[in-house]
Amino acid sequence: MKLGLEGRTALVMAGSQGIGLASAQGFHKAGANVAICARSQGPLDEAAASMPGCLAMTADVTNEGDINAFVKAIQEQFGAIDILVNNAGGPPPGAFADLGDADWAAAVELTLMSAIRTTRMVLPGMQSRGWGRIVNISSFGVKQPVDNLTLSNSIRMAVLGWAKTLANQVGPDGITVNTVCPGWTRTARVEKLLARQSAKTGSSTAEIEATLVQDIPLRRVGEAAEIANLTVFLGSEAAGYITGTAIAADGGATRGYG
Ligand code: NAD
Repeated sequence: MKLGLEGRTALVMAGSQGIGLASAQGFHKAGANVAICARSQGPLDEAAASMPGCLAMTADVTNEGDINAFVKAIQEQFGAIDILVNNAGGPPPGAFADLGDADWAAAVELTLMSAIRTTRMVLPGMQSRGWGRIVNISSFGVKQPVDNLTLSNSIRMAVLGWAKTLANQVGPDGITVNTVCPGWTRTARVEKLLARQSAKTGSSTAEIEATLVQDIPLRRVGEAAEIANLTVFLGSEAAGYITGTAIAADGGATRGYG
């Protein structure tokens, strides 16, 4: 299969670690120009060092001015942006009773508005060229809610509704919009969730992981590169007839038909 990514430019939001970084590395390996942003210089430099020619810039995805400056810098360096991967850190866990208005507002900024604002900046260029790929990194929580991830489960459904609606609107312009739904994937976010659970229960993180994977048909957590394979495919020429989908890469953890 030819991915057709040589010479294309991919913008990966929050791309210094985890699934974002693995996706950026996947696009880079496939011959695309890659631009990544994150809030801290250290991890960003480390990530950029693994991808020669990569544009790496500090930007908070919740800050419109930061995103604007980042998009401008990419356009100056590479010209057009062909592929946008909307990604961010996940909102914090918590039961409904523990969450106030400020928590909800912050999660809406992080998970929904970051994607909407960045897409708004990048979309007109894609439309004028008649080609574009928008890939949103979401969660298997949009298929089946994950216990205690109240903010994530709720706000990601808004992102999904927006993405599906947008797919209908921009399909005629040659632009696809798809959603990647990772299951448990070994990244800093999951290490943190396991550590939190360990502190709460007194069990080791290894014990908690061993219990967790009993609910996953493939009996293991995923690797970031395995999620990235789906992101890169959906961002490629090869996925040209796929739009409006939300595809799980979760080891079979969600038990419905899709
Ligand atoms: P991660 O914590 O390993 O990496 C998150 C990245 O986002 C880092 O590069 C971090 O610097 C960056 N980031 C966070 N907030 C930012 C902000 N405001 N501005 C700019 N950069 C910011 O996370 P991950 O595991 O790679 O997860 C990526 C996405 O996938 C998240 O939305 C997460 O909830 C979702 N997800 C992850 C899993 C999993 O098991 N890892 C499962 C389902 C969904």
